[in-house]
Amino acid sequence: MFQSLPLKSGKVEAVETQEGISSTPSLDFHVIDPKLVDKMVDESLVWSSLHGLVVGDKSIQRSGEVPGVGMVHAPFALLPIPFPETHWKQACEVAPIFNELVDRVSLDAKFLQDSLSRTKKADGFTSRLLDIHSKMLEINKREEIRLGLHRSDYMLDKQTKLLLQIEMNTIAASFCGLSSRISELHRSLLDSYGELLQLNSERVPGNTAVSQFADALAKAWTEYNNPRSAVLVVVQVGEHTHNIRSLRKTLGEIDAEGELQADGSLIVDGQAIAVIYFRSGYTPNDYPTESEWRARLLMEQSSAIKCPSISYHLAGTKKIQQELAKPNVLERFLDNKEDIAKLRKCFAGLWSLDDSDIISKAIERPEFFVMKPQREGGGNNIYGKDVREALIRMQKEGTEGDAAYILMQRIFPTVSSTFLLRDGICHKDDVVSELGIFGAYLRNKEKVIINEQCGYLMRTKISSSDEGGVAAGFAHKAAMVLA
Ligand code: ADP
Ligand code: MG
Ligand code: MG
Repeated sequence: MFQSLPLKSGKVEAVETQEGISSTPSLDFHVIDPKLVDKMVDESLVWSSLHGLVVGDKSIQRSGEVPGVGMVHAPFALLPIPFPETHWKQACEVAPIFNELVDRVSLDAKFLQDSLSRTKKADGFTSRLLDIHSKMLEINKREEIRLGLHRSDYMLDKQTKLLLQIEMNTIAASFCGLSSRISELHRSLLDSYGELLQLNSERVPGNTAVSQFADALAKAWTEYNNPRSAVLVVVQVGEHTHNIRSLRKTLGEIDAEGELQADGSLIVDGQAIAVIYFRSGYTPNDYPTESEWRARLLMEQSSAIKCPSISYHLAGTKKIQQELAKPNVLERFLDNKEDIAKLRKCFAGLWSLDDSDIISKAIERPEFFVMKPQREGGGNNIYGKDVREALIRMQKEGTEGDAAYILMQRIFPTVSSTFLLRDGICHKDDVVSELGIFGAYLRNKEKVIINEQCGYLMRTKISSSDEGGVAAGFAHKAAMVLA
């Protein structure tokens, strides 16, 4: 089960934090007895099966078609990733401010339409989303109950020791279930072996992302105030909690079975819908025909609470992230100066491609930039030499094609070595980590019912791979241990 553990002479290293050298030593994995690693690998794999730390196994044909068939443990790091406590607190503290920002931005239709107007010409998918947004403006559609289940992702820049935001996910911010599980796994491993490993299980922050998200969905359902209504999960697994009926439908099914009532309410397959959670609908691949777009429009027109609404979805695009990082833009949405300063502190360098200075710099030193299209789900960004090639090509073409992208400062996190498990096989590798902080927001008219941080997702990827998006298949889930 366990393969290749190179054993060298070991030492315990101190972790450098913003304050200098931390008192918590991090573990040098070279010193761990391979027998202990084997034992922990074995126990963690058993734990994964017993506690549902599993994902669909693509190598099994009927996986995904027949519930309960073809599952494999989620790829994960054997031990939690050390993370400085100050940065963890900082990420938690900004979560409710980001929630509020998304809500405020979503209310400013002109800002969304103007900021995305060039992108609209270059990107067909964003253009379709904006069309739905425009239609809602035409009919003066009001969203009184607003539900956001977001995930803001960060990396810790090694050189500056700054916690920098990678992106904000406002649609299908996934893995709250798996991330809660993995924290439990790491805590239980450290309860048994923490002393040997010099890691304290109490320093693994508790992770209630899944119950807090379920709670937020339930509270949104309560606000809708129709006891006979249900939660609609657009494709993929719906959880049956809080005794609220839920149903799962694909966009195609919703097009076929959905009806708008005269009062604006939505009925799908004979069932009234209070809340719609989008597990899908964030990539062009989810809309292979006009039928899927009709379903999206139908839902948007309805009075059901959409998570996300079209304006929340647009507020989470990379172009909007870049516009918000421009000077004096946050001030348009937030009043509290301290809040503004806290958000700005985690903004990395972000640029539009109509900035010729930055284009020249990126052509010269492409390794310091990431080029990002308006896409979600990982595997879409451009790195390194490809950035230079793409920029030069676009300059030659001289079309509006560049408006589909933004440029971002490349962040270089600290590289550490850890044990990774995938398909039951353990190997040791150099990794970098990305911390995601979940946030929930619920508002009914002027009353803010929920605005909170809800647990976290730590993902590690092999340091030599550019992209850690899970769709691209490189990332492993982990918990963190505070350093
Ligand atoms: P997506 O919405 O597809 O997840 P992201 O912006 O999160 O798009 O980018 C995908 C991955 O690319 C991230 O998980 C991260 O590993 C890497 N990445 C993104 N932006 C940067 C950056 N500025 N510096 C370094 N790596 C980045
Ligand atoms: Mg994303
Ligand atoms: Mg991402």
